[in-house]
Amino acid sequence: MAEIRKGTQAIWAGEKESLAFGATQVPVVHSVSFGYDDMDEWYEVAVGNKAGHIYGRNTNPTVQAFEEKIRCLENAEAATSFSTGMAAISNTLGTFLSPGDRVVSIKDTYGGTNKIFTEFLPRQQVEITLCETGDHEAIEKELANGCKVLYLETPTNPTVKITDIERMAVAGKRVGALVIVDNTFATPINQQPLALGADLVIHSATKFLGGHADALGGALCGSKKLVEQVYHYREINGATLDPMAAYLLLRGMKTLKLRVDRQCENAMAVARYLQTKDIVESVYYPGLDDHPGHEVASRQMERYGGMLSFSVKGGVETVRHLLPKLKYANRAANLGSVETIVGPSRTTSHVECTPEERAAMGIPEGLIRYSAGIEDIEDLLEDLEQAFRSLPEEVLVKS
Ligand SMILES: *Cc1c(COP(=O)(O)O)cnc(C)c1O
Repeated sequence: MAEIRKGTQAIWAGEKESLAFGATQVPVVHSVSFGYDDMDEWYEVAVGNKAGHIYGRNTNPTVQAFEEKIRCLENAEAATSFSTGMAAISNTLGTFLSPGDRVVSIKDTYGGTNKIFTEFLPRQQVEITLCETGDHEAIEKELANGCKVLYLETPTNPTVKITDIERMAVAGKRVGALVIVDNTFATPINQQPLALGADLVIHSATKFLGGHADALGGALCGSKKLVEQVYHYREINGATLDPMAAYLLLRGMKTLKLRVDRQCENAMAVARYLQTKDIVESVYYPGLDDHPGHEVASRQMERYGGMLSFSVKGGVETVRHLLPKLKYANRAANLGSVETIVGPSRTTSHVECTPEERAAMGIPEGLIRYSAGIEDIEDLLEDLEQAFRSLPEEVLVKS
């Protein structure tokens, strides 16, 4: 399906094999096991010589359709799936890391990923080096000392920093590292890490892929050789994607291109609007010329994504008054859904840190993460405007 465009792929790719009875939609197959009257056929399927399903923890027709669709969208040789994005990350790292191995990554990875690096992997004698996000020289210097895994995420939470995937993949390959990229924020519509030299791409399907905040899931794409190893680890350890969740994700993915295009347009318009407000201190969006990652993002991304953040004068006090005033935004911890979602970093991505730690990481207490939805942009801008206007006098004076 390589020559078909993304919007068409999102709708048609991966479904054919799982259709039955002339149905035009992939069925939700809830069966835990798959039976065989012919002992020889059962054996051939069980040992992988013949296509088919044996047991739901391993494979399932609905789940397989989801895997096939994301495989096509990432233009990968193979794909597998997981119960959550974190399961995709922990199972992938668990597959390839052993005591004594070293990981080079960045400081701004997703909160859960950061916990794996700082809390769990060190307990298994895996050495972790976290570089300043976006400092390419620092990453190259650490890579030169050798490592098993180079783990990247771009753009990142919460200040949407950008890492040059192509440049880092070259440096990683030079020392024989496995290059893994979390592509959740960008989506395959905006960024194709495999084409930029990465070995493996990870998704929290919970976010943009599903797009409706109603199902958890994770995915991994890459070469058959690497993905099969992670599939084996996952089928034994059991973080399997549920068929109903796979169906919801598949259904959501049909509109991936439409949604993401609209979210990118809305995010850009909101970022430009916020720049005009006196009470807004800084706006972080890679689509803005003054963003430090703008040039690299322009090269490696189709568009700049649906995620942005901004800090307000008056810090937490302003945030406390501003966010509850928004009519068309969920105040919640997730992102990438059809609805606009807002939240302070101190409550969402960096809730585990102390104010001092957040300050050291360059995260102001008044930082707000904004996940642009697919609403009409006029309504989103008017909503922000009325929320700013309704700030009480004492907040405006202090800020
Ligand atoms: C949410 C998220 C994850 C974790 O995904 P879950 O589905 O919540 O487990 C990983 N990486 C990024 C960038 C995320 O935003």
